[in-house]
Amino acid sequence: MSNDADVIVVGAGLAGLVAATELADAGKRVIVVDQEGEQNLGGQAFWSLGGLFLVDTPEQRRLGIKDSHDLALQDWMGTAGFDREEDHWPKKWAEAYVAFAAGEKRGWLQAMGHRLFPVVGWAERGGYDAMGHGNSVPRFHITWGTGPGVVEPFERRAREHAKAGRITFKFRHRVDALDMTNGAATGVSGKLLEPSSEARGESSSRVETGDFSLKAQAVIVASGGIGGNHDLVRQNWPKRLGAPPKFMVAGVPAHVDGRMIGITEAAGARLINRDRMWHYVEGVRNWAPIWPGHGIRILPGPSSMWFDATGKRLPSPLYPGYDTLGQLEYIMRTGYDYSWFILTQSIIKKEFGLSGSEQNPDLTGKSWRQVIRRAGAKGGPEPVEAFKNKGADFIVRDNLEDLVAAMNKLGGTSLLDPAFIRMQIEARDREIDNPYVKDSQVMGIHNARRYIGDKLIRTAKPHKILDPAHGPLIAVKLNILTRKTLGGFETDLDSRVFGNDGNIIPGLYAVGEAAGFGGGGVHGYRALEGTFLGGCLFSGRNAGRAAAKAVL
Ligand SMILES: Cc1cc2nc3c(=O)[nH]c(=O)nc-3n(C[C@H](O)[C@H](O)[C@H](O)COP(=O)(O)OP(=O)(O)OC[C@H]3O[C@@H](n4cnc5c(N)ncnc54)[C@H](O)[C@@H]3O)c2cc1C
Repeated sequence: MSNDADVIVVGAGLAGLVAATELADAGKRVIVVDQEGEQNLGGQAFWSLGGLFLVDTPEQRRLGIKDSHDLALQDWMGTAGFDREEDHWPKKWAEAYVAFAAGEKRGWLQAMGHRLFPVVGWAERGGYDAMGHGNSVPRFHITWGTGPGVVEPFERRAREHAKAGRITFKFRHRVDALDMTNGAATGVSGKLLEPSSEARGESSSRVETGDFSLKAQAVIVASGGIGGNHDLVRQNWPKRLGAPPKFMVAGVPAHVDGRMIGITEAAGARLINRDRMWHYVEGVRNWAPIWPGHGIRILPGPSSMWFDATGKRLPSPLYPGYDTLGQLEYIMRTGYDYSWFILTQSIIKKEFGLSGSEQNPDLTGKSWRQVIRRAGAKGGPEPVEAFKNKGADFIVRDNLEDLVAAMNKLGGTSLLDPAFIRMQIEARDREIDNPYVKDSQVMGIHNARRYIGDKLIRTAKPHKILDPAHGPLIAVKLNILTRKTLGGFETDLDSRVFGNDGNIIPGLYAVGEAAGFGGGGVHGYRALEGTFLGGCLFSGRNAGRAAAKAVL
């Protein structure tokens, strides 16, 4: 039987688009299948903030940041904590990826028209020693245009190739099986789904209208992770984190269902590090949800005080924006699956960001006018103020006793003792009078403000939480939010998938989140942030280029 294309790509998210465009650039014929409709082209990347991990860039240098490949590699390895035999390929991917982020990545994107917002963010600050977790310096480069701005160059290239007949998109094609011939991947088959008119990101119908089967010399699995399937998240929940949360909000659309991971595994592919996941602890219920259980992650600056469900302040260095996995571990040990921020209006105004393209209309719309208005506004950014006023997890009060009473009501318990909370806040507030202090969170605030980017737009001037001049007081109930799958299919640097027998499966490639962003888990246990889109770009590119050479 003749082939329908040279290569089939399963998934029209960022990783699939990158692989497909690289193949088409090399003159190959590609079919891209996706279970969703055309309106979802770009997958999760469209919804993303477009934050990219880049090293030693002109943007960093302009802000006085001295970064280097060696510093970034030190941070990556301290963060990943690779400690398993199966980390062989993930570690190789990590080395190659850091070299990409410190080398070709920025120029390659720029040549396609991609641009960056000039202020570099400082995510995952760690707070341990030099060889421990975290970014030693700010490296989170936000795309001008956020997620859609990351997708745009690849969508444009893919549509040009589609016009020329090199790429064919087949939407509403749900793959149910990888077809294997003599141990090699030679195609996919599955069901046609009825056309969907739902808006991007909304759940679509699963009503089947027929069968399909497609043949090619190679198949690239670019189907994303498992974050939209909470049953799978709970099933893979690592024992070291105790019991999985009872309640979680969804940081990804329902199409991130993990089905294709099971299908690829059933065909003999080796899935590694499935217990490594990157979920956030600052999730709030979206007052205007797009997908089921839609949660938004707060991107917090360093000043909010963080309390567990019993009212105890989180220990050093578990401060906002420092160590996501450490915070998750701590919170799950409390026996409750939520925690609290207490902050002031001055802090929310300067320090709260919300992750997601739709929550940042100024950056997504590439509007300098709106960006400047955001910085100068009396309140917080409009989307943040909307959450403050309408979000189910936000409480605003003029005094602490009323605030804590409302927190107890929202938590449905009487766990929070207002006197105990007051004692901890007053103790912290006494540390504000001197620029040199004992409290390591306050120290961190002073440290942050020595970086011009944080001082300008990300870290409020140190002040007492209980100073009414900075009020009203705000409490936010923080839920666990599912997002990224750090494990995935074990691949070599060409994104070729290993089988359970340790040999490469001919014709099978895996990229993006399905491949743990490269190798089956390029991040190890933790991430430095902005590394997921980058992992899709790098693994998609490697697969596309390698497959183009491999097919005849
Ligand atoms: C709100 C939000 C903010 C984010 N912010 C950032 C950020 O700032 N920086 C960063 O680095 N990362 C960020 N991320 C993460 C990043 O966007 C994702 O990890 C990345 O886009 C995943 O891309 P992918 O191509 O691997 O998978 P996806 O985008 O999930 O695409 C997979 C595609 O495969 C299709 N598919 C799945 N199974 C099948 C099947 N059986 N048959 C046919 N089709 C199938 C799906 O429908 C989907 O279209 C964010 C994510 C979200 C949701």
